[in-house]
Amino acid sequence: PFDVLVVGGGPAGAAAAIYAARKGIRTGVASERFGGQVLDTMAIENFISVKETEGPKMAAALEQHVREYDVDVMDLQRATQLVPAGDDGLVEIKLENGAALKSRTVVLSTGARWRQMGVPGEDQYRNKGVAYCPHCDGPLFKGKRVAVIGGGNSGVEAAIDLAGIVAHVTLIEYDAQLRADEVLQRKVRSLPNVRIVTSAQTTEVLGDGAKVNALVYRDRIGGDSHRVELEGVFVQIGLLPNTEWLNGVVALSPRGEIIVDDRGQTSVPGVFAAGDATTVPYKQIVIAMGQGATAALGAFDHLIRVPVV
Ligand code: FAD
Repeated sequence: PFDVLVVGGGPAGAAAAIYAARKGIRTGVASERFGGQVLDTMAIENFISVKETEGPKMAAALEQHVREYDVDVMDLQRATQLVPAGDDGLVEIKLENGAALKSRTVVLSTGARWRQMGVPGEDQYRNKGVAYCPHCDGPLFKGKRVAVIGGGNSGVEAAIDLAGIVAHVTLIEYDAQLRADEVLQRKVRSLPNVRIVTSAQTTEVLGDGAKVNALVYRDRIGGDSHRVELEGVFVQIGLLPNTEWLNGVVALSPRGEIIVDDRGQTSVPGVFAAGDATTVPYKQIVIAMGQGATAALGAFDHLIRVPVV
């Protein structure tokens, strides 16, 4: 068995694996796709001390750094079930391929995925104007026109944030009213360069083949379609943690995020968690890595306290 088994090979998982391996304990990483969301990212300009890099380059660097250590890297492995430790003190992780891995501690770092609109043009122009992370990509649209899709807290926060950077923001909400907190709604309504459109269903993202140049929405009341000329579309209709497989076993928040304490401990003894899959606010690479380190150190602390069975 492993001492620390990391499930998920994004920034959080890579950091956890390195911190665990540096303690000289048996460490493994099982992940569906090593690199995680970073693989889908183009420019990364907020990873402190690296002025600028690209997602696939960072993903390769993550893997290379992990492989510097004696870590059992198991790629293309999807975890489907976690069985808490019984008398043998070992947590079991069942994999889709039928195999099972056992470990004295586990770090869950399965990340999250942005909910997509599922309209024509969204995939084609992903990273070519279609963006999901205002903290990451906002500055790329400096002085340009953008839309934010979604009038919940994250959408309205994004609109407020972007309004300070871009020339103009069109905030598009499907419902008849915004769903964000009142204080955020007041703030966004006070901004001169934000237009709010409610009862609007985005139906298409248009572009010139290389970049986004417009968006089409349908007025859900009148039924007519409108075209908005712009350079960017920020989709803010939800971040879904990859935690469905933990339901009923590990305590999750109403949003499905793994509930962790300051040391990354979950509700299950010996099971820790880190990164976008958890309740920790602000989903960013630098934060996921810090949390991965915390979870690995939390797991190590746990290991030196429990008797070996
Ligand atoms: P993830 O990166 O999501 O990794 C999750 C890992 O778990 C993957 O290896 C995945 O394959 C694996 N996994 C999932 N489910 C299972 C399962 N059941 N079994 C086994 N493995 C599983 N952040 C920044 O700081 N700067 C940026 O510029 C930036 N730009 C971004 C651009 C885009 C387009 C996107 C989508 C995100 C961006 N982010 C950026 C956010 C950043 O990528 C995430 O915060 C970060 O990757 C989270 O790391 P993580 O390790 O928690 O999860």
